[in-house]
Amino acid sequence: MKTTQITILGSTGSIGLSTLDVVARQPERFRVYALTAHCNVERMRAQCLAHHPEVAVMVDPDAAEALRAALAAVGSRTEVRAGAEALAEVAREPRVDAVMAAIVGAAGLLPTLAAAEAGKRVLLANKEALVMSGALLMDAVRRSGACLLPIDSEHNAIFQCLPNGYVCAESVTPHGARRIWLTASGGPFRDRPLDSFAGITPDEACAHPNWDMGRKISVDSATMMNKGLEVIEACWLFAVAPSTIQVVLHPQSIVHSMVAYDDGSVLAQLGNPDMRTPIAHALAWPERMESGVEPLDLLTMGKLEFSEPEAARFPALGLAYAALERGGTATAVLNAANEVAVDAFLGERLAFSEIPAVIATTLEAIEAEAADSLERVLGADRRAREVASEYVANARPVLS
Ligand code: NAD
Ligand code: MG
Repeated sequence: MKTTQITILGSTGSIGLSTLDVVARQPERFRVYALTAHCNVERMRAQCLAHHPEVAVMVDPDAAEALRAALAAVGSRTEVRAGAEALAEVAREPRVDAVMAAIVGAAGLLPTLAAAEAGKRVLLANKEALVMSGALLMDAVRRSGACLLPIDSEHNAIFQCLPNGYVCAESVTPHGARRIWLTASGGPFRDRPLDSFAGITPDEACAHPNWDMGRKISVDSATMMNKGLEVIEACWLFAVAPSTIQVVLHPQSIVHSMVAYDDGSVLAQLGNPDMRTPIAHALAWPERMESGVEPLDLLTMGKLEFSEPEAARFPALGLAYAALERGGTATAVLNAANEVAVDAFLGERLAFSEIPAVIATTLEAIEAEAADSLERVLGADRRAREVASEYVANARPVLS
């Protein structure tokens, strides 16, 4: 079997760690070409010593300098590169077969696009890239013949429920798929009294009941903006209208999503909530391989429940549908405003309950344009950050 050379963008994060865990179980099958991170030198140093990549990228120049010194001290042969430009370099490197796109937020867009343009197997965890720039990313995939495989557990589940031979970016409708059921756990505040939302702390919001994830996506799960971003992601990946997608609350996070077919069949993918399953699926596809995840025990699993999400509890979900309806750069604006709001909430500069207001105000303030060039998408992202930051600066102080 040919060894697959892989670049992991965002290797020091939650998805990055799970990817390295899966890859290390199959050393004859995978070779790590490059690892990248923003500034966590200690973790990157440990990853370089364990996985011996040819290249390690630190976006922050001081962190790159510190890593270079730390690796030189132990005689490591890993080459250290600095700066955001190096992310795209290691994504499009000719020797690389597969790229795990696991940077959080808009910072992941350019290297993910570089991997797609270079025709790689793109393992897409960075949903913000699709939300910002779905049309450009899907065009790049079609033109280069890249193989795009979803890592987000719901989209990976949907992909697994589609027929053999289906490729992402192609509409699922001609395959007889009538509806996509996107499951949502409801996060940590599914049952919390609404009048206590203003006092929610960052640590409370990051304590997800079922999944262990990075802080930004954990907050998105608590507001349910994560599900909103995932609806947009699903529209691009599976080329369907928003009305084809139905969000359903499923607190156990065992059914990862479902596809309903014209003949009345509903296919679902089930498993324990552990991202190593979708990661191993996409790495091995179309084969299967060991992921380290415990198999589901149906006899002890208990009840599986399904219900409709409450619109008043989760206004962020409605905002995502509104941006999708508007189209063009509106979803890039939604994403940027959300990133600014979540960052401010994590920094204790904004109340949890104000996050949707930042996004709604920013969406109202900026007219959507066609998202037909990178300049337009990045311009909308920049303007949205300005508007959202101004809102945050004027927001009521956080109660403590
Ligand atoms: P994380 O915060 O744990 O890790 C983020 C990674 O991105 C880190 O390696 C960090 O160094 C890097 N990074 C951060 N800012 C950067 C910048 N400006 N430039 C370059 N690199 C930067 O996040 P995560 O939970 O691993 O999530 C990563 C992506 O995967 C997100 O888009 C998230 O929505 C998606 N995702 C995550 C999960 C999960 O279970 N964690 C599930 C589904 C989808
Ligand atoms: Mg998900």
